[in-house]
Amino acid sequence: MKLAFIRPSSATLIMATTLQFVCCVSFADTLYINGHIRLVDQENQIVEALYESRGKIQFVGQAQQAKRLISEQTLIIDLDGKTVIPGFIESHGHLMSLGLSQLNLDLSTVENYDALIQRVALAVDAAKPGEWILGRGWHQSKWQPKPVDSIDGFQTHARLSEVSPHNPVYLVHASGHAGFANAKAMEIAGITLNTLVAGDGEIIRDDKGAATGIFNERAQALIRSVIPPTSKQQQLRALQLALAVLAENGVTSFQDAGVNQQTIDLYQQFEAEKKLTSRLWVMLSGAEKPLLERWFESGPQVGDYLTVQAVKLVADGALGSRGAWLLEPYTDRPETNGLPTMPIDYMSDVSHQAYRRGFQVGIHAIGDLANRAVLDIYDDLFDGKDRGVRFRIEHAQHISAVDIPRFGQLGVIASVQGIHMSSDRPWAIDRLGRARIDEGAYVWRKLLETNAILINGTDVPVEPINPFASYYALVSRRTLKGEPAGGFEPAQKLSRLQALQAYTIGPAYGAFEEHLKGSLEVGKWADFIVLSQDLMQVEEDDILNIQVLRTVVGGKEVYNVAGGM
Ligand SMILES: [Zn+2]
Repeated sequence: MKLAFIRPSSATLIMATTLQFVCCVSFADTLYINGHIRLVDQENQIVEALYESRGKIQFVGQAQQAKRLISEQTLIIDLDGKTVIPGFIESHGHLMSLGLSQLNLDLSTVENYDALIQRVALAVDAAKPGEWILGRGWHQSKWQPKPVDSIDGFQTHARLSEVSPHNPVYLVHASGHAGFANAKAMEIAGITLNTLVAGDGEIIRDDKGAATGIFNERAQALIRSVIPPTSKQQQLRALQLALAVLAENGVTSFQDAGVNQQTIDLYQQFEAEKKLTSRLWVMLSGAEKPLLERWFESGPQVGDYLTVQAVKLVADGALGSRGAWLLEPYTDRPETNGLPTMPIDYMSDVSHQAYRRGFQVGIHAIGDLANRAVLDIYDDLFDGKDRGVRFRIEHAQHISAVDIPRFGQLGVIASVQGIHMSSDRPWAIDRLGRARIDEGAYVWRKLLETNAILINGTDVPVEPINPFASYYALVSRRTLKGEPAGGFEPAQKLSRLQALQAYTIGPAYGAFEEHLKGSLEVGKWADFIVLSQDLMQVEEDDILNIQVLRTVVGGKEVYNVAGGM
C-alpha cells in the first residue's frame, strides 16, 4: 500500500489507499504525520505522529508505529514538520461579550479621545435616527495625548454629545467596570443633578455637579437599564461570530466567567445543534440568586461540549478605575482604597452552598484586600474539610506578601491574565507605587513557588483573545511594543514551558478536566492546533507573529488558515 500525504496548504482530500475510492469512504480516523508534536505531558515529549479516532487520541508516537493503525478509513495528513500543541484553553473570558463586541464598536485599539470621537462619528453616520450606538474597549490610561478636560482622570462627554446629538451613545470601559454616556443617553436615563446611585458605584460629576458621562461600577445600571435588549437573532449571530474568533485563534476550550440563564439557553441550543466548535465550561453569574437556586437544586451539568459547574462572584472592581479594593490607599488618589463589590457574607454563603452542591467557585479579586477577603472565605470553608475542590481566584492580580503562600496551602487556583500585566503595568505603578508592585503585583513565579496552580487567559473582551500576546506577556513581561527590554520585574517571568502549561493542562486542571484535555495523550480529546512556528523555540519577539494554521476540536477541523475543509 502506497501512502498519499496531504500538504497542510491543500484542501484536497486523498485517501490512504487509492484515489478512485475517495467518493465513497467517510474517513473515520485521521493520522497526522511528520509533525513536531508537543504533547505537554509529564515528560514534555515531542513525537511525529498522532492518530485520532472518534474524536479521541488513539496513539501518539513515532510514524513507523502509527502506520500499523492505518485502515481504508484513515485520512492521512502530512504536517510538513509544523509544530502541534494542545489547543489553548482560555481560562477566563466572556464569550457573549466577545460576540456582541463583534457586532458593536470595538474601541480597544483607539489611541486617544480624538480617535474615539472619529469612530463614533462614523457610527452616527451609519445609524438610523435615535438608534443606540454601543461600543466597548476604550481605556483612558492608555491614551496619548490625554484628553484636555479630564475630571477624576476620565474624559468628559461634551465632544461625544456634540458628535452625536440625537443618537444615544454608551461606551463600556475596557475593564467593564465603567461606562461613558453622551447627553442623549443620559437624558433618556433621566440623569439629573440629583440622581443617586443605589449600592456601590459613582456618577462622576464636575464642579457644578453635572454628570461628566462616566458611570462607575453599579452606576452603570442607570444607563444600561434603558438600552433596548439585544434580539435573539443578534445573540445567535454574536455567538456564531465569537466561536469563529475562538477557532481562528486556536482556542479549543473556553472558560466563561459568569453567565445568566439566557446565555446558557443559547449555549444549549448550539450544543444540541452541534454548532459548538469550542468546548465551553461555564460559571454561573453569582449576582443572580434565582439562577443559583435553580442550579444548586439541579446540580452541575457536565457534557463533552458544554459544562456548567462553577459560580462566579466578584469581590472588587478594577485597578484602572480605582475600584480594586486595597489594604492601603491608592498612591495616586490617597482618599480612596477602592471598594468591595459584593458583601463578604453573601460571597461566603454562596461559596458554602456551591461547595455542598458540587460546584466550583471563582471569585474576581484584583486588590490585595479583595484577595485576602476571598482567601479568608475559602480558608474558613475548607477548615478541616476536603481542599481538593479547586476553588479559584480570578485575576489574583495584587496580593499582600503574607497572603501569597496561602494559594499553595489552600489549593486555590490563581486564574491570571498575562496580557493584563503587559497592558496595565506601565500605569499600575501610579496606582500602587513601587513597593506594592514589587511585593505582590502580577507575581506569577512567587505563586508557582507556593505550589499553586497558575492558569492563564485574557479576560476577553477586556483584552483581545489572541493567545500569543498573552503567552508572550507571561514569558517576556513586556508590553506588546516590547518595553522595557528586560521586562517588568523580570524575576517573575515564566519559562516557556510553564507558560504553555498555564494555557493548556493548567486550565484543564482548573476545571476538573485534566483527564480529557490539556495535553495530547491517548484517551483524551483530539483538541489541538497546528502553528506556523514553534512557540517554545522562536525568538521572543517572534512569538507575536505566530499564526494558527489549523484548529482541530474532537478530531474535526474547525479552522484552516488556507480556508480548506
Ligand atoms: Zn472577567
